[in-house]
Amino acid sequence: MSSVKPKILNERVEKCPYCGKEALHVIEALHEIPHFGPILLVTLKCSNCGYKHTSVSHVEQHAPLRIKIYVNSLEDLNIKIIRSPTATIRIPELGITIEPGPISQGEITTIEGYLLRVHEILKSLFNNKSHKDVIDKIEDTINGKVSFTFIIEDPFGNSAVIVQNRKKIKKETIPAEELKYIKYGDAVLEMKRGGTYGSKKKV
Ligand SMILES: [Zn+2]
Repeated sequence: MSSVKPKILNERVEKCPYCGKEALHVIEALHEIPHFGPILLVTLKCSNCGYKHTSVSHVEQHAPLRIKIYVNSLEDLNIKIIRSPTATIRIPELGITIEPGPISQGEITTIEGYLLRVHEILKSLFNNKSHKDVIDKIEDTINGKVSFTFIIEDPFGNSAVIVQNRKKIKKETIPAEELKYIKYGDAVLEMKRGGTYGSKKKV
């Protein structure tokens, strides 16, 4: 993989998310890959239950990037997102923020894929009665009934969107004063009640 010895940044033992024992060995190492740049390799291994996880991220830094995608048709739900492990997803109209978790891996998925996942998480966390309004709103977005803005905020600028119509998206650099409000490293699905409802889609 690399001709240079990996540089161990951090080595520690944490509580395992699966068995709950203080037996999760975490190693963060920086590998220098020729012609590619630095890679951060995080290896998790539980000596109690055997849980294992490795995440790789490209750590070459780009300017902090915010990509806004204007979703107003069923077709737009198929827009593909390349989310780096450090990116936060926001849907202001639904009051939803998905921040990257400590074992977050980069992924490629569609906007619909995200909505389905959020829907599933909310359904499992809350009974239908207590958060019916929010769950209903998400169902409306999945069915293409409302328009909304899907925002990716990546402090390292390694995320991207695959879209045919460039007018669907807006890219901007995140100003330094806003950067400190963007978290990365804690697993959070934040939900604010009463997010403004997206305008009805024209059918
Ligand atoms: Zn374990």
